[in-house]
Amino acid sequence: MDVSFLLDGLNDKQREAVAAPQSSMLVLAGAGSGKTRVLTHRIAWLLQVENQSPYSILAVTFTNKAAAEMRERVEKIVGHNTGRMWIGTFHGLAHRLLRTHWQDAGLPQSFQIMDSDDQQRLLKRILKSMNLDEKQYPPRLVAGYINGKKDQGLRPAHIDAGPFPMEQKLLELYRIYQDSCDRAGLVDFAEILLRAHELWLNKPHLLAHYQDRFRHILVDEFQDTNAIQYAWIRVLAGNTANVMIVGDDDQSIYGWRGAQIENLHRFLQDFPGAKTIRLEQNYRSTGNILKASNELIANNPDRMGKELWTEDKDGEPISLYCAFNEMDEARFIVGRISDWQDKGGMLGECAILYRSNAQSRVLEEALLHKGMPYRIYGGLRFFERQEIKDAMGYLRLISNRDDDAAFERVVNTPARGIGERTLDILRSTARKEQLTLWQTSLRLLEEKVLSGRAANAVKGFLDLIVQLRSDTDELPLYRVADHVIQHSGLKAMYEAEKGENAQARVENLEELVTAARSFEMPEELEDMGELNAFLSHAALEAGEGQADAHTDAVQLMTLHSAKGLEFPMVFMAGVEEGIFPSKLALEEGDRLEEERRLCYVGMTRAMQKLYITYAESRRIYGREDYARPSRFIREIPPEYVEEIRLKAQVSAPLVANRFAHAQQTFNDSGLKIGGRVRHFKFGEGTVTNYEGSGPQARVQVQFDDFGSKWLVVSYAKLESL
Ligand code: ATP
Ligand code: MG
Repeated sequence: MDVSFLLDGLNDKQREAVAAPQSSMLVLAGAGSGKTRVLTHRIAWLLQVENQSPYSILAVTFTNKAAAEMRERVEKIVGHNTGRMWIGTFHGLAHRLLRTHWQDAGLPQSFQIMDSDDQQRLLKRILKSMNLDEKQYPPRLVAGYINGKKDQGLRPAHIDAGPFPMEQKLLELYRIYQDSCDRAGLVDFAEILLRAHELWLNKPHLLAHYQDRFRHILVDEFQDTNAIQYAWIRVLAGNTANVMIVGDDDQSIYGWRGAQIENLHRFLQDFPGAKTIRLEQNYRSTGNILKASNELIANNPDRMGKELWTEDKDGEPISLYCAFNEMDEARFIVGRISDWQDKGGMLGECAILYRSNAQSRVLEEALLHKGMPYRIYGGLRFFERQEIKDAMGYLRLISNRDDDAAFERVVNTPARGIGERTLDILRSTARKEQLTLWQTSLRLLEEKVLSGRAANAVKGFLDLIVQLRSDTDELPLYRVADHVIQHSGLKAMYEAEKGENAQARVENLEELVTAARSFEMPEELEDMGELNAFLSHAALEAGEGQADAHTDAVQLMTLHSAKGLEFPMVFMAGVEEGIFPSKLALEEGDRLEEERRLCYVGMTRAMQKLYITYAESRRIYGREDYARPSRFIREIPPEYVEEIRLKAQVSAPLVANRFAHAQQTFNDSGLKIGGRVRHFKFGEGTVTNYEGSGPQARVQVQFDDFGSKWLVVSYAKLESL
């Protein structure tokens, strides 16, 4: 059989890996060097040339989407269905195993998976029942302890807490938590992996069966495996399977979740026969993007060391845009995408990457404003997020007490002792009497129908809404939002939950205040009042829904979700100290390197064009910050970068209007675009832009020695030259 087509489109090193004799292998290579492609072709090779059955193959990828794509690509190459091949994420595969062998795993058939929010809620209940103070034992910390132990393969019985009271308490909590999970048939994420591992250890006949079956194990993005994931593979592989792992130590970005780069070294020890193949040619990015990324990551110590080169031309330089604020940044990005489209490009070829979820809101707004379809990959749109809907629920009730949907949503969020039974009474009475839930509550209280405790709880809720309303009556919209988030208990509730998700939720709530602050009242809605106009604005934004899979749409995602993907045009937004690297990473020194790897991941997603943007001032999480550009920008040598100067024409019409107005004032000041000026501290420079009027008029100057700065004209005492 002619199998050359399996090796077409591969370089020598890639061929060596794809066509290697059956054995274990490590493919260690930088971004865009074809690791994933090699893995896919290797599977096809095993099927086609080595006549291996799909039944004998197990492949692990990082996301379900990647798994689906890989299967599709293999099927395209081999031309037939590969249904019997196991391909998925670690969690997906382990879950499949538990579903098939639930009895052997000691689980009820109908076991349910808990996400990290569920997990922390359960822990809170347990803490309460034990009379333990959440402040002393934050649920986040307890969950972190439990998950950490599970990731190391440890059950309570394996742990010796020693003489330390805190450690002993945590261990006790682990035990009690696990008992309640087992009773309720609940399984958390870490448990899925741990049980799957224990299945191997405790049921030798099952292990033997799967060892016999999976002769070929292939793992993509290996640098982000944690201890239990590695152990699972290690045991399954035994002494006979051929394990091919591909990875890049420079792209390890989940250390905060327990991923261990050391697994790469461990693999080489555990599989002494494994050959290491390095790929060094990059096929994804232009020369400039690649060289800049190489230089950036060179700032990290202790790398396994790889150099990437490309045959591709240098291409365009990386464009760096210093925005005036976050809205200007968003408008700039949308403007560039629009240009791309005008030149015949597709929206789906453009990706906007950001460090934290809350950053998406301003970008979404600018996209919606322009009528540009977009899709948030691996997440929800801002106004569809749970915590935002909670906060909007309160705002809606303040505005209209008879809004039953809002009532249902927040009546017991945060928990205030209004149980399902009370709600059922409310609902059925409301139905019978044709009243709203609010009216029904009032009536039932009046008629003293509810039990003492329930009545108190319901009354407390009604009072809260009335109080919120009167407290915020005279306030501007953003302070209403802020007040409600604080005093409804929502913020405290999410703060207490802690954890990754809860942290993002608090940030989103704070971001809602920013959204309210920058909300511009459409003229035609003036009669309906600011709060109502804002509520309908939010409902409409949420209602538009994600662009469906077939619509050409801009891709928005966090840098973490972008791993393994590639796009012709990439924007990295909000590249500022405190955002990226994040505040947390700056506070904990050892996380800076991981942030730098994340930056490397982001940059190397770009094929043709990379934009990096930052803002001089930014309202985010409800505050205004004046941040410095990220150190990562400075780490990119200037020869690969072109700074985009703000010109009046660059900005969208919104700015242009203000600009026309500002013209006079600006002229009054005697400054003009292109004119030379001197500043007492920054020395000489050239005026590049201005905005605002009167005492707020600001001017941007490109200083010869200090770079570009925005200055308030009335303070800056600029001297025209
Ligand atoms: P990452 O580290 O980001 O996951 P990767 O090493 O997995 O990257 P791939 O995604 O497999 O890299 O490949 C990057 C791009 O280069 C893809 O578009 C792929 O199709 C292309 N490519 C890989 N090898 C070759 C080759 N030999 N000739 C042409 N194109 C190639
Ligand atoms: Mg890849």
